[in-house]
Amino acid sequence: MKRLAILGSTGSIGTSTLEIVAAHPDRFTVEALTAGANLDLFAKQIAMFSPRLAAVLTEELAHRLKAMLPSDSSTEILFGIDGLVAAATISEADMVVAAIVGAAGLVPTAAAIKAGKDIALANKETLVTAGHLFMELIEKHNVRLYPVDSEHSAVFQSMEGHRNADISRIILTASGGPFLNTPIESLRRVTVGDALNHPNWSMGRKITIDSATMMNKGLEVIEASWLFELPLDRIGVNIHPQSIIHSMVEYIDGCVMAQLGTPDMKAPIAYALSYPERVATGVKPLDLTELSDLTFSNPDLERFPCLSLAYRAMSDGESMPAVMNAANEIAVEAFLAGQIGFTEIPELIEKTMNAHQPEKLGSISDVLEVDLWSRKRTRELLKI
Ligand code: NAD
Ligand code: MG
Repeated sequence: MKRLAILGSTGSIGTSTLEIVAAHPDRFTVEALTAGANLDLFAKQIAMFSPRLAAVLTEELAHRLKAMLPSDSSTEILFGIDGLVAAATISEADMVVAAIVGAAGLVPTAAAIKAGKDIALANKETLVTAGHLFMELIEKHNVRLYPVDSEHSAVFQSMEGHRNADISRIILTASGGPFLNTPIESLRRVTVGDALNHPNWSMGRKITIDSATMMNKGLEVIEASWLFELPLDRIGVNIHPQSIIHSMVEYIDGCVMAQLGTPDMKAPIAYALSYPERVATGVKPLDLTELSDLTFSNPDLERFPCLSLAYRAMSDGESMPAVMNAANEIAVEAFLAGQIGFTEIPELIEKTMNAHQPEKLGSISDVLEVDLWSRKRTRELLKI
Protein backbone atom coordinates (compact mmCIF):
# COMPACT_ATOMS: atom_id res chain seq x y z
CA MET A 1 0.00 0.00 0.00
CA LYS A 2 1.42 3.40 -0.94
CA ARG A 3 0.36 6.21 1.39
CA LEU A 4 0.03 9.62 -0.25
CA ALA A 5 -0.09 13.29 0.67
CA ILE A 6 -1.44 15.34 -2.24
CA LEU A 7 -0.61 19.04 -2.28
CA GLY A 8 -3.01 20.97 -4.53
CA SER A 9 -5.65 18.22 -4.65
CA THR A 10 -8.39 20.43 -6.15
CA GLY A 11 -6.33 21.34 -9.22
CA SER A 12 -6.14 19.65 -12.58
CA ILE A 13 -3.27 17.31 -11.56
CA GLY A 14 -4.70 16.86 -8.06
CA THR A 15 -8.12 15.70 -9.28
CA SER A 16 -6.57 13.34 -11.86
CA THR A 17 -4.36 11.91 -9.10
CA LEU A 18 -7.42 11.25 -6.95
CA GLU A 19 -9.12 9.50 -9.89
CA ILE A 20 -6.20 7.06 -10.04
CA VAL A 21 -6.31 6.58 -6.27
CA ALA A 22 -10.07 5.95 -6.36
CA ALA A 23 -9.62 3.33 -9.07
CA HIS A 24 -7.00 1.46 -7.00
CA PRO A 25 -8.07 1.44 -3.34
CA ASP A 26 -6.00 -1.72 -2.85
CA ARG A 27 -2.78 0.15 -3.75
CA PHE A 28 -3.12 3.74 -2.53
CA THR A 29 -4.42 5.58 0.52
CA VAL A 30 -4.67 9.31 1.06
CA GLU A 31 -3.20 10.59 4.32
CA ALA A 32 -3.26 14.34 3.65
CA LEU A 33 -4.78 16.77 1.14
CA THR A 34 -4.26 20.49 0.62
CA ALA A 35 -6.10 23.06 -1.46
CA GLY A 36 -6.11 26.77 -2.14
CA ALA A 37 -9.67 28.07 -2.09
CA ASN A 38 -12.06 25.69 -3.89
CA LEU A 39 -13.92 24.59 -0.75
CA ASP A 40 -16.89 22.80 -2.34
CA LEU A 41 -14.68 20.37 -4.22
CA PHE A 42 -12.27 20.06 -1.30
CA ALA A 43 -15.07 19.14 1.13
CA LYS A 44 -16.22 16.42 -1.30
CA GLN A 45 -12.66 15.06 -1.58
CA ILE A 46 -12.33 14.98 2.22
CA ALA A 47 -15.65 13.11 2.53
CA MET A 48 -14.58 10.61 -0.11
CA PHE A 49 -10.98 9.92 0.97
CA SER A 50 -11.09 10.67 4.75
CA PRO A 51 -7.50 11.94 5.01
CA ARG A 52 -6.01 12.35 8.50
CA LEU A 53 -5.19 15.95 7.70
CA ALA A 54 -6.41 18.61 5.29
CA ALA A 55 -5.03 22.12 4.87
CA VAL A 56 -6.31 25.29 3.21
CA LEU A 57 -4.76 28.72 2.65
CA THR A 58 -6.27 30.82 5.47
CA GLU A 59 -7.84 30.51 8.91
CA GLU A 60 -11.10 31.89 7.57
CA LEU A 61 -11.23 29.18 4.87
CA ALA A 62 -10.45 26.55 7.52
CA HIS A 63 -13.48 27.69 9.60
CA ARG A 64 -15.73 27.61 6.56
CA LEU A 65 -14.43 24.18 5.56
CA LYS A 66 -15.06 22.76 9.05
CA ALA A 67 -18.64 23.98 8.86
CA MET A 68 -19.09 22.10 5.58
CA LEU A 69 -17.89 18.74 6.98
CA PRO A 70 -20.02 16.33 9.02
CA SER A 71 -19.56 16.87 12.77
CA ASP A 72 -18.10 13.38 13.18
CA SER A 73 -15.41 13.93 10.49
CA SER A 74 -12.07 12.71 11.83
CA THR A 75 -9.99 14.88 9.45
CA GLU A 76 -7.87 17.47 11.19
CA ILE A 77 -8.16 20.85 9.43
CA LEU A 78 -5.13 23.15 9.36
CA PHE A 79 -4.31 26.31 7.41
CA GLY A 80 -1.54 28.54 6.07
CA ILE A 81 2.04 27.59 5.40
CA ASP A 82 2.16 25.56 8.66
CA GLY A 83 -0.81 23.53 7.45
CA LEU A 84 0.82 22.92 4.07
CA VAL A 85 4.07 21.82 5.67
CA ALA A 86 2.22 19.57 8.14
CA ALA A 87 0.51 17.87 5.19
CA ALA A 88 3.79 17.56 3.27
CA THR A 89 5.59 15.99 6.23
CA ILE A 90 2.81 13.86 7.76
CA SER A 91 4.52 10.80 9.21
CA GLU A 92 2.02 8.32 7.73
CA ALA A 93 2.76 9.24 4.07
CA ASP A 94 5.41 7.57 1.89
CA MET A 95 5.03 9.85 -1.12
CA VAL A 96 4.07 13.48 -1.61
CA VAL A 97 2.40 14.56 -4.86
CA ALA A 98 3.57 18.15 -5.40
CA ALA A 99 0.74 19.60 -7.51
CA ILE A 100 0.45 23.17 -6.25
CA VAL A 101 0.86 25.73 -9.01
CA GLY A 102 3.64 28.32 -8.89
CA ALA A 103 6.45 29.19 -6.51
CA ALA A 104 4.05 28.49 -3.59
CA GLY A 105 5.03 24.84 -4.08
CA LEU A 106 8.66 25.34 -3.02
CA VAL A 107 8.51 25.37 0.78
CA PRO A 108 6.19 22.36 1.24
CA THR A 109 8.12 20.31 -1.34
CA ALA A 110 11.42 21.07 0.40
CA ALA A 111 9.85 20.13 3.74
CA ALA A 112 8.59 16.83 2.29
CA ILE A 113 12.08 15.93 1.02
CA LYS A 114 13.64 16.77 4.38
CA ALA A 115 11.04 14.48 6.00
CA GLY A 116 12.26 11.66 3.75
CA LYS A 117 9.24 11.48 1.44
CA ASP A 118 9.51 10.39 -2.16
CA ILE A 119 8.15 13.08 -4.46
CA ALA A 120 5.87 12.84 -7.48
CA LEU A 121 6.72 16.23 -8.95
CA ALA A 122 4.17 18.14 -11.02
CA ASN A 123 5.09 21.62 -9.78
CA LYS A 124 7.68 22.57 -12.39
CA GLU A 125 8.45 25.89 -10.72
CA THR A 126 10.34 23.96 -7.99
CA LEU A 127 13.20 22.86 -10.24
CA VAL A 128 13.05 25.96 -12.43
CA THR A 129 13.61 28.37 -9.56
CA ALA A 130 15.77 26.28 -7.27
CA GLY A 131 17.02 23.28 -9.22
CA HIS A 132 20.47 23.10 -7.64
CA LEU A 133 19.08 23.33 -4.10
CA PHE A 134 16.43 20.67 -4.71
CA MET A 135 18.80 18.24 -6.43
CA GLU A 136 21.15 18.61 -3.43
CA LEU A 137 18.30 18.04 -0.97
CA ILE A 138 17.13 14.96 -2.83
CA GLU A 139 20.58 13.45 -2.72
CA LYS A 140 21.16 14.37 0.90
CA HIS A 141 17.87 12.88 2.10
CA ASN A 142 18.09 9.92 -0.24
CA VAL A 143 14.55 10.28 -1.60
CA ARG A 144 13.33 9.54 -5.12
CA LEU A 145 11.88 12.13 -7.44
CA TYR A 146 9.37 10.90 -10.04
CA PRO A 147 8.41 13.31 -12.81
CA VAL A 148 4.69 13.84 -13.41
CA ASP A 149 4.94 16.26 -16.32
CA SER A 150 4.19 14.24 -19.46
CA GLU A 151 7.42 15.20 -21.26
CA HIS A 152 9.66 14.35 -18.31
CA SER A 153 7.76 11.15 -17.68
CA ALA A 154 8.28 10.25 -21.35
CA VAL A 155 12.03 10.89 -21.05
CA PHE A 156 12.15 8.95 -17.77
CA GLN A 157 10.33 6.02 -19.38
CA SER A 158 12.57 6.17 -22.47
CA MET A 159 15.65 6.02 -20.23
CA GLU A 160 14.58 2.92 -18.30
CA GLY A 161 17.07 0.12 -18.84
CA HIS A 162 19.60 2.39 -20.56
CA ARG A 163 22.81 3.97 -19.34
CA ASN A 164 22.77 7.75 -18.84
CA ALA A 165 26.27 7.85 -20.33
CA ASP A 166 24.86 6.62 -23.65
CA ILE A 167 22.40 9.50 -24.07
CA SER A 168 23.35 12.00 -26.74
CA ARG A 169 20.37 14.32 -26.25
CA ILE A 170 16.72 14.50 -25.31
CA ILE A 171 13.97 16.03 -27.41
CA LEU A 172 10.94 17.49 -25.67
CA THR A 173 7.83 17.69 -27.79
CA ALA A 174 5.47 20.65 -27.68
CA SER A 175 2.00 20.95 -29.17
CA GLY A 176 2.58 24.59 -30.08
CA GLY A 177 -0.68 25.50 -28.32
CA PRO A 178 -3.64 27.33 -29.80
CA PHE A 179 -1.59 29.95 -31.68
CA LEU A 180 0.74 27.73 -33.66
CA ASN A 181 -0.70 28.92 -36.95
CA THR A 182 -2.14 32.31 -35.98
CA PRO A 183 -0.56 35.10 -38.05
CA ILE A 184 2.09 36.73 -35.83
CA GLU A 185 0.59 40.20 -36.36
CA SER A 186 -2.72 38.97 -34.90
CA LEU A 187 -1.20 37.65 -31.66
CA ARG A 188 -1.44 41.12 -30.12
CA ARG A 189 -5.23 40.93 -30.27
CA VAL A 190 -5.96 37.36 -29.12
CA THR A 191 -8.32 37.06 -26.15
CA VAL A 192 -8.03 35.22 -22.84
CA GLY A 193 -10.66 32.79 -24.13
CA ASP A 194 -8.58 32.08 -27.27
CA ALA A 195 -5.47 31.47 -25.16
CA LEU A 196 -7.28 29.14 -22.74
CA ASN A 197 -8.55 27.02 -25.61
CA HIS A 198 -5.74 24.45 -25.73
CA PRO A 199 -6.09 22.01 -28.65
CA ASN A 200 -4.97 18.79 -26.87
CA TRP A 201 -4.63 19.09 -23.10
CA SER A 202 -7.04 20.04 -20.36
CA MET A 203 -5.02 21.78 -17.63
CA GLY A 204 -5.10 24.57 -15.02
CA ARG A 205 -5.37 28.17 -16.28
CA LYS A 206 -1.80 29.26 -15.60
CA ILE A 207 -0.14 26.35 -17.39
CA THR A 208 -2.62 26.68 -20.27
CA ILE A 209 -1.48 30.27 -20.86
CA ASP A 210 2.14 29.11 -20.48
CA SER A 211 1.44 26.58 -23.24
CA ALA A 212 0.07 29.29 -25.52
CA THR A 213 3.22 31.43 -25.04
CA MET A 214 5.44 28.31 -24.97
CA MET A 215 6.89 29.50 -21.65
CA ASN A 216 5.67 26.09 -20.50
CA LYS A 217 8.21 24.41 -22.81
CA GLY A 218 10.89 26.82 -21.61
CA LEU A 219 10.15 25.88 -18.00
CA GLU A 220 10.24 22.22 -19.01
CA VAL A 221 13.64 22.59 -20.71
CA ILE A 222 15.05 24.06 -17.48
CA GLU A 223 13.35 21.37 -15.40
CA ALA A 224 14.71 18.63 -17.69
CA SER A 225 18.21 20.03 -17.45
CA TRP A 226 18.15 19.56 -13.64
CA LEU A 227 16.24 16.32 -13.61
CA PHE A 228 18.35 14.52 -16.20
CA GLU A 229 21.62 16.41 -15.56
CA LEU A 230 21.99 17.56 -19.15
CA PRO A 231 23.30 20.89 -20.47
CA LEU A 232 20.93 23.06 -22.50
CA ASP A 233 22.64 22.26 -25.81
CA ARG A 234 21.60 18.63 -25.35
CA ILE A 235 17.92 19.42 -24.85
CA GLY A 236 15.97 20.03 -28.04
CA VAL A 237 12.36 21.06 -28.60
CA ASN A 238 10.21 19.83 -31.47
CA ILE A 239 6.77 21.17 -32.28
CA HIS A 240 4.52 18.13 -32.57
CA PRO A 241 0.93 19.40 -32.76
CA GLN A 242 -0.69 15.98 -32.33
CA SER A 243 0.78 15.43 -28.82
CA ILE A 244 1.11 11.68 -29.37
CA ILE A 245 4.86 11.35 -28.84
CA HIS A 246 5.36 12.86 -25.39
CA SER A 247 9.17 13.20 -25.73
CA MET A 248 12.22 11.26 -26.89
CA VAL A 249 15.72 10.23 -25.93
CA GLU A 250 18.40 9.96 -28.60
CA TYR A 251 21.32 7.61 -27.87
CA ILE A 252 24.90 7.72 -29.14
CA ASP A 253 24.24 4.84 -31.56
CA GLY A 254 21.61 6.94 -33.35
CA CYS A 255 18.66 5.06 -31.85
CA VAL A 256 15.77 7.13 -30.53
CA MET A 257 13.44 5.89 -27.79
CA ALA A 258 10.07 7.62 -27.64
CA GLN A 259 7.02 7.27 -25.43
CA LEU A 260 3.62 7.51 -27.12
CA GLY A 261 0.11 7.70 -25.78
CA THR A 262 -3.24 9.46 -25.84
CA PRO A 263 -2.69 12.90 -24.28
CA ASP A 264 -4.09 12.39 -20.78
CA MET A 265 -2.18 13.32 -17.62
CA LYS A 266 -3.54 10.28 -15.80
CA ALA A 267 -0.93 8.11 -17.57
CA PRO A 268 2.21 9.95 -16.36
CA ILE A 269 0.66 10.55 -12.93
CA ALA A 270 -0.06 6.83 -12.53
CA TYR A 271 3.48 5.92 -13.57
CA ALA A 272 4.92 8.28 -10.94
CA LEU A 273 2.66 6.76 -8.28
CA SER A 274 3.15 3.10 -9.14
CA TYR A 275 6.73 2.98 -10.52
CA PRO A 276 8.20 0.52 -11.44
CA GLU A 277 4.86 -1.21 -11.88
CA ARG A 278 2.06 0.00 -14.11
CA VAL A 279 -1.62 0.27 -13.23
CA ALA A 280 -4.78 0.65 -15.30
CA THR A 281 -5.66 4.32 -15.85
CA GLY A 282 -8.69 4.25 -18.11
CA VAL A 283 -6.64 6.22 -20.70
CA LYS A 284 -7.74 5.23 -24.18
CA PRO A 285 -5.04 3.08 -25.82
CA LEU A 286 -3.62 4.44 -29.05
CA ASP A 287 -4.81 3.08 -32.35
CA LEU A 288 -1.97 4.14 -34.63
CA THR A 289 -4.03 3.29 -37.71
CA GLU A 290 -6.45 6.06 -36.71
CA LEU A 291 -3.69 8.68 -36.65
CA SER A 292 -3.38 10.29 -40.03
CA ASP A 293 -0.16 12.21 -39.49
CA LEU A 294 2.54 12.76 -36.90
CA THR A 295 4.45 15.92 -37.74
CA PHE A 296 7.53 17.59 -36.26
CA SER A 297 9.12 21.00 -36.77
CA ASN A 298 11.43 23.46 -35.07
CA PRO A 299 9.80 26.15 -32.91
CA ASP A 300 9.58 29.63 -34.41
CA LEU A 301 11.29 31.83 -31.81
CA GLU A 302 9.79 35.01 -33.25
CA ARG A 303 6.34 33.60 -32.58
CA PHE A 304 7.35 32.19 -29.19
CA PRO A 305 9.85 34.64 -27.59
CA CYS A 306 9.18 33.09 -24.15
CA LEU A 307 11.09 30.00 -25.23
CA SER A 308 14.20 32.09 -25.96
CA LEU A 309 13.79 33.89 -22.64
CA ALA A 310 13.86 30.54 -20.83
CA TYR A 311 17.04 29.42 -22.62
CA ARG A 312 18.59 32.78 -21.80
CA ALA A 313 17.54 32.57 -18.12
CA MET A 314 19.06 29.12 -17.77
CA SER A 315 22.32 30.08 -19.46
CA ASP A 316 22.56 33.26 -17.31
CA GLY A 317 21.97 30.85 -14.43
CA GLU A 318 21.95 31.49 -10.67
CA SER A 319 18.90 33.62 -9.78
CA MET A 320 17.77 34.40 -13.36
CA PRO A 321 15.39 31.43 -13.83
CA ALA A 322 13.64 32.32 -10.55
CA VAL A 323 13.32 35.94 -11.69
CA MET A 324 11.93 34.84 -15.05
CA ASN A 325 9.49 32.44 -13.40
CA ALA A 326 8.07 35.03 -10.99
CA ALA A 327 7.82 37.67 -13.73
CA ASN A 328 5.95 35.13 -15.83
CA GLU A 329 3.52 34.35 -12.99
CA ILE A 330 2.69 38.06 -12.63
CA ALA A 331 2.47 38.62 -16.40
CA VAL A 332 0.14 35.62 -16.82
CA GLU A 333 -2.06 36.82 -13.94
CA ALA A 334 -2.22 40.27 -15.56
CA PHE A 335 -3.14 38.76 -18.93
CA LEU A 336 -5.83 36.57 -17.35
CA ALA A 337 -7.20 39.66 -15.58
CA GLY A 338 -7.41 41.52 -18.91
CA GLN A 339 -4.75 44.08 -17.86
CA ILE A 340 -2.26 43.34 -20.64
CA GLY A 341 -2.30 41.84 -24.11
CA PHE A 342 -0.88 38.44 -25.01
CA THR A 343 2.29 39.76 -26.63
CA GLU A 344 3.02 41.92 -23.60
CA ILE A 345 3.67 38.78 -21.54
CA PRO A 346 7.19 38.18 -22.96
CA GLU A 347 7.84 41.94 -23.11
CA LEU A 348 7.20 42.31 -19.38
CA ILE A 349 9.27 39.25 -18.47
CA GLU A 350 12.19 40.46 -20.55
CA LYS A 351 12.11 43.92 -18.94
CA THR A 352 12.22 42.39 -15.47
CA MET A 353 15.07 40.07 -16.48
CA ASN A 354 17.01 43.00 -17.95
CA ALA A 355 16.73 44.81 -14.63
CA HIS A 356 18.31 41.90 -12.76
CA GLN A 357 21.92 40.89 -12.16
CA PRO A 358 22.13 37.13 -11.55
CA GLU A 359 23.16 36.33 -7.98
CA LYS A 360 23.95 33.12 -6.10
CA LEU A 361 21.04 31.49 -4.31
CA GLY A 362 22.26 29.62 -1.24
CA SER A 363 18.92 28.69 0.32
CA ILE A 364 15.19 28.44 -0.36
CA SER A 365 14.73 31.74 1.47
CA ASP A 366 17.17 33.38 -0.98
CA VAL A 367 15.00 31.99 -3.80
CA LEU A 368 11.84 33.37 -2.20
CA GLU A 369 13.51 36.75 -1.75
CA VAL A 370 14.48 37.04 -5.41
CA ASP A 371 11.03 35.73 -6.36
CA LEU A 372 9.46 38.57 -4.35
CA TRP A 373 11.79 41.14 -5.91
CA SER A 374 10.80 39.98 -9.38
CA ARG A 375 7.07 40.06 -8.61
CA LYS A 376 7.37 43.59 -7.22
CA ARG A 377 9.42 44.80 -10.17
CA THR A 378 7.04 43.25 -12.71
CA ARG A 379 4.02 44.80 -10.95
CA GLU A 380 5.75 48.22 -11.04
CA LEU A 381 6.36 47.80 -14.77
CA LEU A 382 2.68 46.95 -15.19
CA LYS A 383 1.66 50.32 -13.77
CA ILE A 384 3.79 52.32 -16.22
P1 NAD B 1 -4.34 24.12 -10.99
O1 NAD B 1 -4.38 25.61 -10.98
O2 NAD B 1 -5.40 23.36 -11.67
O3 NAD B 1 -4.29 23.61 -9.45
C1 NAD B 1 -3.40 24.13 -8.52
C2 NAD B 1 -3.68 23.59 -7.11
O4 NAD B 1 -2.84 24.31 -6.18
C3 NAD B 1 -5.11 23.78 -6.63
O5 NAD B 1 -5.45 22.74 -5.72
C4 NAD B 1 -5.02 25.10 -5.89
O6 NAD B 1 -6.06 25.26 -4.92
C5 NAD B 1 -3.67 25.01 -5.23
N1 NAD B 1 -3.03 26.30 -5.01
C6 NAD B 1 -2.95 27.34 -5.89
N2 NAD B 1 -2.26 28.36 -5.33
C7 NAD B 1 -1.89 27.95 -4.09
C8 NAD B 1 -1.15 28.57 -3.03
N3 NAD B 1 -0.66 29.81 -3.14
N4 NAD B 1 -0.96 27.86 -1.91
C9 NAD B 1 -1.45 26.62 -1.78
N5 NAD B 1 -2.16 25.99 -2.74
C10 NAD B 1 -2.37 26.65 -3.88
O7 NAD B 1 -2.90 23.71 -11.55
P2 NAD B 1 -2.48 22.38 -12.34
O8 NAD B 1 -2.74 22.57 -13.78
O9 NAD B 1 -3.01 21.18 -11.63
O10 NAD B 1 -0.91 22.44 -12.18
C11 NAD B 1 -0.24 22.16 -10.95
C12 NAD B 1 1.26 22.14 -11.21
O11 NAD B 1 1.54 21.03 -12.07
C13 NAD B 1 1.79 23.38 -11.93
O12 NAD B 1 3.06 23.69 -11.44
C14 NAD B 1 1.87 22.95 -13.38
O13 NAD B 1 2.88 23.64 -14.09
C15 NAD B 1 2.22 21.49 -13.24
N6 NAD B 1 1.77 20.66 -14.38
C16 NAD B 1 0.45 20.60 -14.70
C17 NAD B 1 0.03 19.84 -15.79
C18 NAD B 1 -1.43 19.72 -16.16
O14 NAD B 1 -1.75 18.98 -17.06
N7 NAD B 1 -2.33 20.41 -15.51
C19 NAD B 1 0.97 19.14 -16.55
C20 NAD B 1 2.31 19.20 -16.17
C21 NAD B 1 2.71 19.97 -15.07
MG1 MG C 1 4.28 19.19 -19.96
